[in-house]
Amino acid sequence: MDVDLTQLEHDELYVEHEYTAGELELDDAEIVLCAPPRVRFRLQRLGLEIRIEGRVEAEVEVHCDRCLSAFRLTVTPDFDVLYAPLAVLTPEEEVQLTERDLRFGFYQNERIDIDALVREQIRLALPFRLLCREDCRGLCPQCGVDLNHEVCHCAPSVDARWAALWELKRRMEGV
Ligand SMILES: [Zn+2]
Ligand SMILES: [Zn+2]
Repeated sequence: MDVDLTQLEHDELYVEHEYTAGELELDDAEIVLCAPPRVRFRLQRLGLEIRIEGRVEAEVEVHCDRCLSAFRLTVTPDFDVLYAPLAVLTPEEEVQLTERDLRFGFYQNERIDIDALVREQIRLALPFRLLCREDCRGLCPQCGVDLNHEVCHCAPSVDARWAALWELKRRMEGV
């Protein structure tokens, strides 16, 4: 979905959009949309700049960083982004903007790409560490079983055995 700025009748526009199946792809193999997302926003024209504030609602399927199992997450990021026309900025100004404010976007040809905004908001809303649950035990590094569901009989890892040896040595020398 695009907003065509030449078609704005007022300096303000309210949009509520529920995507249809297949209308929006995330272009990211790691994140799958479970259902079409929704977006609602208010767009305001502020001179040459366009401010868009609103909220995205999406349910995505991702994979746990520790046990690799798929799980679902609901994300509802609120956003407030200021768009400037790409042409009016000098290269120096662009550099300053990217360094100063990540909530700044650009538009070209009097159009704002709402799909790109929604995709970015979903991605930014994901936590840095994706865990199926806070205390996920992950996979055994040796046999690969999911330690959330199974107990394996692998020997402790090499690091753990070295730690035990050092502990023994320390005790023998310490007495
Ligand atoms: Zn997990
Ligand atoms: Zn194991």
